[in-house]
Order: sequence, then C-alpha cells, then structure tokens
Amino acid sequence: MFPKTLREAPKSAITANHKFLVRAGFVDQLMAGSWTLLPMGWRVVGKINQIIREEMNNIGGQEMLMPLLHPKEIWNQTGRWEAADEVMYKLKDTRGKEYALSFTHEEIVMDLVKKFVHSYKDLPLAVYHFSTKFRNEPRARSGILRGREFMMKDLYSAHTDEKDLMDYYEITKKAYVKIFKRLGFTNCKVVEASGGVFTDKHTHEFQVLADTGEDTIFYCNSCDFAQNHEIFEGKAGVTCPDCKKGKILESRAIEVGNIFPLKDKFSKAFGLTYKDKKGEDKFAQMGCYGIGISRLMGAIVEVYNDDKGIIWPKTVSPFNVHLVHIEDPGTEPWAKDTYEKLTKAGIEVLWDNREDVTAGEKFADCDLIGIPARLVVSGKTGKGKVELKMRSEKQTRVGSVDNVIKSLSV
Ligand code: ATP
Ligand code: MG
Repeated sequence: MFPKTLREAPKSAITANHKFLVRAGFVDQLMAGSWTLLPMGWRVVGKINQIIREEMNNIGGQEMLMPLLHPKEIWNQTGRWEAADEVMYKLKDTRGKEYALSFTHEEIVMDLVKKFVHSYKDLPLAVYHFSTKFRNEPRARSGILRGREFMMKDLYSAHTDEKDLMDYYEITKKAYVKIFKRLGFTNCKVVEASGGVFTDKHTHEFQVLADTGEDTIFYCNSCDFAQNHEIFEGKAGVTCPDCKKGKILESRAIEVGNIFPLKDKFSKAFGLTYKDKKGEDKFAQMGCYGIGISRLMGAIVEVYNDDKGIIWPKTVSPFNVHLVHIEDPGTEPWAKDTYEKLTKAGIEVLWDNREDVTAGEKFADCDLIGIPARLVVSGKTGKGKVELKMRSEKQTRVGSVDNVIKSLSV
C-alpha cells in the first residue's frame, strides 16, 4: 500500500485532521491549501460521495459534470467578475483572453439551463456534480478544512414559482440532514445565516459542533433554533427567542454545507425566462445547494479521534476490517484463508502482512488509521479463528472467522 504511515505529524499541524490524516497516509500537502488525496483518503471520499449521490438521486437530482475553466464574459453577466474578485483565481492565456477558475457554478448552470428551458413544461429540474472548486483563501490552514482547491458537491434547481422552489428547498434541507446522519454526525445543526456573494436573503448552513471549527453558532438546547454569529442578536445564556423555553448555547462549529434560495436573482441577470400556461414570460426561480466534500472528511476526523488516531464511522471508513497477521510459524495459510473468506463475504479488508514489523507497531497503525474493526490472526488465536477488537472499544474477543463475519455484516 502507498504510502507508509508517519511517526511524526508536520510541525505546522495544530488540528486533529491535519495531524492524523497526514500521519496515517490519507492526504499529502503540496502547498498551503492544496492537497493530494492519497489512495485511502480517496476511498473515504468515494464513500462520502456515494452516500451523497444516493440522497441527491432520491430527490430527483441528475448527476453531470461541468467545466472548471470559465470565460470572463459569463462572470460579467452577474457582475461577479468584479464582486467576487477576492476569492476568484483569474488568468490570461497567451492571446490575452481572460478566464476564471471555478469557485462556484451558478453562472455556468444559468448559461446551460437557458439553452434548454423555454416552457413551464421544462420545469422543475435539478442537476448536480462533484467537482473541484478554486478559492483564493487568505488563510488556508486547519488541514483540509480550508483548501484553495477543494472538492464540493453542488446541486442547482430551477422552478416555475417561488412556492415550488421553497418546497424543494425544504426537501433538500431534509436530504442534507439525512446525509450528515448517514456520515456519522450526531451533532449537526441546521443554522440560519447570511447569503454572502450568493444572495441577499438568508440561507441555511449545516454546522458540525467542534472546538476546532472556524465558525461560531448560537443554538437552543430545547428546540431547533440555530443562528450563525453573523446574524444572531443576543448572547449565550439568554432565553431562546423562538420557543421561549430553552437556553441559547454558543459553540464553535465547522460549516459542512450551505443551501441558498437564489429566487430570481440569477434568472434576471441571465434573462432566464419561460412561457407559463397563459403564454406569458416569467423568470425561473433558482436554488443552489453545496456540500464541502474534502472539508467533510476533515470534520469527521475532528469529531471522531482520540490520542492514538482516527476512529472512522462505519459508513465512511476506507475499509471495513484491518486484518493483522502476527507471523507465528505455520500461521501464514490461516491469514490467507481469513482474508479470502472476508473478501468473499463482501467485506473490504486492509491486510497488514508486512514482514519485520512488530506486533506493537502494527497495532499502533491500526489505531492511527482508525478502521472500525481490527482482526488478528496469530499462533494464539488458532486455526480458523481470529481475535476481534473494535477501534472504539477496549475489549477483545476470539471467535471463528464465520461468526466474526456474521457479527460484522449486521
Ligand atoms: P466558509 O465560510 O467556510 O469560507 P463558504 O460559506 O464560503 O465557506 P460555500 O460557498 O457555502 O462556502 O460552499 C459550500 C461548502 O463548501 C461549504 O459549506 C464548505 O463545506 C465547503 N467549503 C467552502 N470553502 C471551502 C474551502 N476553502 N475548503 C474546503 N471546503 C470549503
Ligand atoms: Mg457557506
């Protein structure tokens, strides 16, 4: 397996995701804000993406892929070539033509949809993609939580009227809540926030409570009320303005998603109209919905770790099982049999069969990498048997490979 685990974290690393993802070999830094997703990191991202894909398809989203190199003219249509100057990477080709590297895709979606939407019969529609975003972040730190080049899933929807848009906005909000639950978060809040360069209206952020988060949120300990510090008027400890019962708590948090009811802001800029049933021209109503994929992988590590390493939730772990072979004489075939049985049962196995590495070092790597289940084959466990230890628990137990497979599959 490429690469090896590292004993030391980079000197600059402060956050858990930076230290552990680098040491365990999930990511590698090229420069500030720019990361390679190594084979195991890429596996985790694949799992995250698959969960998101299933939930996007469930709400009628259609997956596609849009380009990252954009002509200046398209950004002039909304005035964001100037307005988003600080975040956008801009470049000129040898003939002097100007381009932007994608920091988001609203303008590209508008250009696309305008070619195909003419009548109310063409609406509603929802398209999404997984792709890279480039943002000129002044302080790219906190490991992979803030990149200058990072991965996002962005969904865009178009509707005939505001009611249909807002109904879909609520459907998307529910799908997002489900996604973050499936990814293992039990502490993700839906938070009201301001719109930034996207919309003048309020938006909703999905915030995971974590001390290392860059955001500060205020939320009620009794109802669903939650607001970003940018819009919350008040302080921690006051009575909740919504339910009038609970107390407002303050917490640091990591923004993992953000949804925006754009309404007709972009449709007006692009002249995206359709003919309604009476044949009158109306502006389409738009929504956009983002999830920070690479930031999510970092957020999971911020929430799920201990002093030894990562503790992946089952749904996103790079492998289901970490199989360790302690090379007592004659045990080689037992390890091979175990590997084959597990693989046949559809269980993804990381098999540590390194020679000249002590059992202690192998176990330390298990704890660092953080796969939920550790299986050991050794002279002590005996033929056809394995020792099972869950990453999140202390105790071990020995059982037949068949029984262990059963207990892992449920
Ligand atoms: P932030 O406030 O953290 O800078 P943002 O509000 O500008 O983020 P959005 O435009 O809402 O980001 O992008 C959608 C999602 O993409 C965010 O919710 C976040 O999870 C992720 N994201 C945004 N910027 C970055 C970044 N620089 N690195 C990694 N992920 C990011
Ligand atoms: Mg945001």
